[in-house]
Amino acid sequence: MIMPEQGRPWQDVKEDLKNRGSKDAKWRDGRTAVYVFNAGEEIAQIQKEAYAAFMSENGLGPLAFPSLAQMEKDVVSMGLGLLHGPEGSTGAMTSGGTDSITMAIKTARDFARAQGRARDRANIVLPFSAHLAFDKAAHLMDIEVRRIPVKTDGSYEADIPEMAAACDDETIMMVGSAPNFPHGIIDPIEALSEVAVARGLWLHVDACVGGYFAPFARMNGVPVPAFDFELPGVQSMSADLHKYGYAAKGASTVLFRSEALFEHMPFDMNQWSGAPMKTPTLAGTRPGGAISAAWAVMNHLGIDGYKRLQGQVCATRARVEDGVKRLGFEVLGNPLLGLIAFRHPEHHAFAIYGEIYRRGWFTSVTKSPPSLHLMLSPKHADFIDDYLRDLEASLHAVVSAKDAEKLKVEARYS
Ligand SMILES: *Cc1c(COP(=O)(O)O)cnc(C)c1O
Repeated sequence: MIMPEQGRPWQDVKEDLKNRGSKDAKWRDGRTAVYVFNAGEEIAQIQKEAYAAFMSENGLGPLAFPSLAQMEKDVVSMGLGLLHGPEGSTGAMTSGGTDSITMAIKTARDFARAQGRARDRANIVLPFSAHLAFDKAAHLMDIEVRRIPVKTDGSYEADIPEMAAACDDETIMMVGSAPNFPHGIIDPIEALSEVAVARGLWLHVDACVGGYFAPFARMNGVPVPAFDFELPGVQSMSADLHKYGYAAKGASTVLFRSEALFEHMPFDMNQWSGAPMKTPTLAGTRPGGAISAAWAVMNHLGIDGYKRLQGQVCATRARVEDGVKRLGFEVLGNPLLGLIAFRHPEHHAFAIYGEIYRRGWFTSVTKSPPSLHLMLSPKHADFIDDYLRDLEASLHAVVSAKDAEKLKVEARYS
């Protein structure tokens, strides 16, 4: 596109904009199970109005916009309240999970350096299932990543003894996920915490996708194991608001056990021509709307609202589990929250994925082992029977294609 010499009227552009989405995944019809968290029209409306209310304001200027500074504090405080943040715990809002993870690693590195450790070389030790945001951040900071295979006993959990063995004097962080993205499984964080305490290591819990889900699942009676600041080894956590917090996109939290750890995060700089500037996170300009939308959704839903929505997601996941098992699939490990991965003992998951994709479903896959992957939203309660019906048809399509192939081969050799 070349920029038009003369602009067009907004009505015209608006119409154009609307039509732009016509080939996108049909998430409003529950046809995606990745990328979008659909909690219904009412929440979407609140996100929009609350975002618009502070859309032009900038979280970079807490003195100019004490409103945003206070809302950020409130959001962080609500997060810490849900995740057993002890007295003195603190944190910040960031633009997303990758940002939160980057800032946590930067903080752990600078904390280690302040103690005279890992000055020249540093590494982080994580389960193979941990999110690749850790590698991205480590790449930026020239930190070595040690990914340790998960257990092969069918649990898909982090292998704690192997992780412990991989740590050394230059390890600035150990990571556990609650849950991990590929399998939706919560790592044995308590055992990781014990290693961290015994060895004096920094444990980060990546609760990007579970931080605003697991506490409510537990309130609903789901046996969620300890995974947060309740465990003494946990020094930092990442928890995304724009996932199961149902906030507008561009909102996450990075949380620390104490102010003494947190103080290694902000960047304070005055060696330039401009005014001195202190920024807590990676961003300079911080969109006010992301803060106000998160604050508004959290206040609108409250504990009751989240319990209801997350209960709905867990119930849908249980229906998926039943449905796919009836079709002969096996579920990976023991998922407790909103993510689930499953595979077929005879038919390749990616072939089935291709069929279900052709039927209009934009879902995801897990690579090891090859599986179909769903990240469920409250709205899926209305659509999951359709999904299971199409999954069955997809499986049959793969089976008949295979049978046809077999007949062809037999015909050739007979
Ligand atoms: C989504 C996710 C991330 C990354 O978050 P973004 O907001 O996509 O940057 C990190 N870890 C886990 C477990 C996630 O699910």
